[in-house]
Amino acid sequence: MVDKSVLNLIEDMIDTLKDRNGVGLAAPQIGVTLRVIVLSMPDEVPFAVINPAIVKRIGERELVEGCLSIPGYQGRIKRAVSVTVKGLDIQGKPQRTKATGMLSQALEHEIDHLDGILYIDHLESPNKLYKFDFEQSEAAVDNL
Ligand SMILES: [Zn+2]
Repeated sequence: MVDKSVLNLIEDMIDTLKDRNGVGLAAPQIGVTLRVIVLSMPDEVPFAVINPAIVKRIGERELVEGCLSIPGYQGRIKRAVSVTVKGLDIQGKPQRTKATGMLSQALEHEIDHLDGILYIDHLESPNKLYKFDFEQSEAAVDNL
């Protein structure tokens, strides 16, 4: 069973995500040191993973990434093409998610947060990080 306080936390995290129009959020980003992440893909129901761990990474791609915790910046980094993540769902049942595209990127990003790793730790050189104007930014994923 998942503790009621964890369920409340997940509810708070999903609210925060909606407020900020975010794609993903990790508990440490709101000051809670639990291994909980929530993801919200456009037009899909938000979901949480408790104690997530990446069990498989396939391929490599370069992409643009930003972070709710580092506003105003984006960087070009490398992520897997696809990841498989295991963890528990809100009922406490083991789940396994195979993801590609934005969800794969978001899962890697949020699970990194649980270990205190930010996307800027993946930069190969400082000039792959740059300031950007949120008003003019279009497609980049900056809300993780
Ligand atoms: Zn982030």
